[in-house]
Amino acid sequence: MTKRDYYEILGVGRDATEKEIKRAYRRLAKKYHPDVCKEPNAEEKFKEISEAYEVLVDPNKRANYDRFGHAGTESIFGKGGFSWSDFTHFSDIDDLFGRDFFGRDIFDVFFKGFRETTRAGPVKGNDLRYDLYISLEEAASGLKTEIQIPRTEKCSDCNGTGARAGTSPKTCPVCNGTGQEKRERRTPFGQFVSITTCSRCHGEGKIIEQPCPTCNGTGRIRHTRRISVKIPAGVDTGSRLRISGEGDSGIGGGPSGDLYIVIHVNPHEFFKREGDDIFCEVPITFTQAALGDEIEVPTLKGKARLKIPPGTQTGTIFRLRGEGIPHLKGRGKGDQNVRVRVVTPKKLSRREKELFEELAKIEGKGSGLKGFIGRMMNDVKETFT
Ligand SMILES: [Zn+2]
Ligand SMILES: [Zn+2]
Repeated sequence: MTKRDYYEILGVGRDATEKEIKRAYRRLAKKYHPDVCKEPNAEEKFKEISEAYEVLVDPNKRANYDRFGHAGTESIFGKGGFSWSDFTHFSDIDDLFGRDFFGRDIFDVFFKGFRETTRAGPVKGNDLRYDLYISLEEAASGLKTEIQIPRTEKCSDCNGTGARAGTSPKTCPVCNGTGQEKRERRTPFGQFVSITTCSRCHGEGKIIEQPCPTCNGTGRIRHTRRISVKIPAGVDTGSRLRISGEGDSGIGGGPSGDLYIVIHVNPHEFFKREGDDIFCEVPITFTQAALGDEIEVPTLKGKARLKIPPGTQTGTIFRLRGEGIPHLKGRGKGDQNVRVRVVTPKKLSRREKELFEELAKIEGKGSGLKGFIGRMMNDVKETFT
């Protein structure tokens, strides 16, 4: 069977504009839509015009068709040819026939022959996400805080029914409360029965004659809620806390969603974190390094004393046990690692200069490569031999 020309199917010229193609499709879709047209081949016709429309309304597909004819559509629809899953303009059909039309139902009818929609029952509310930014100190100690979260809640004026106070929702007269409408169609492929969501109550099974003015009959309102949360010690960037039931409220008596708090630990100006351990660097002077000293170093909780032994080299790391971050799961704590950096003075007072010069003289009297440098070079030699 040879395929008909797409332009011929839509009844437009080869130079038709996009507007003309759309107009032609709208006219034919209205005529042949199987829910409107009682002709036995309405579904085939409808599919045929939809295929033509799919190709001609898209400049690329149309150019391909103009060049290669139906052979060119194989690259678009595959060897099996056009099927409803290739159709990308259901919304155009929806526009033609009003809100949320049966385009999708037709789709399902063609694919499954029979579709059963369950009545819209209780639906769980959406989960919500809240990004919480905290300091490293707060991550180490844990914190209690209050957050503000905009969410959907049950309308208290109508108690979620959507009906004005003093009235109540009525059973839908179209579907008798089932929320479903049954459509039967005879086609060349046999009889199709499709069960669709009731067009009057949209599956609710109930209709509201006097909507609640507070929520416009939806039964739900937007509200910014303050929630106190407790963040345990040891959290890190990416840690997620689930607060059950604090998301959007459910629909039709469904449970509320959950609230997820996603933790972000701000970078610290002094400490770096690796797992439960923290790292920092402190400067010490030549004399502290050579003679030893006890210094004060900042910790996450305050200060700690750190002993610098005589002869400390720059880059040495000292560990302060248990001054890191608590393990999020289980017990124990990480450590704080302090790296010392020996700082060469840039400016010397007159007295300091005198003393350094004196030191240099003493080093100059040493054997071999002279004093301090010589001893250092010997150390290096020992290391490498
Ligand atoms: Zn209400
Ligand atoms: Zn109904």
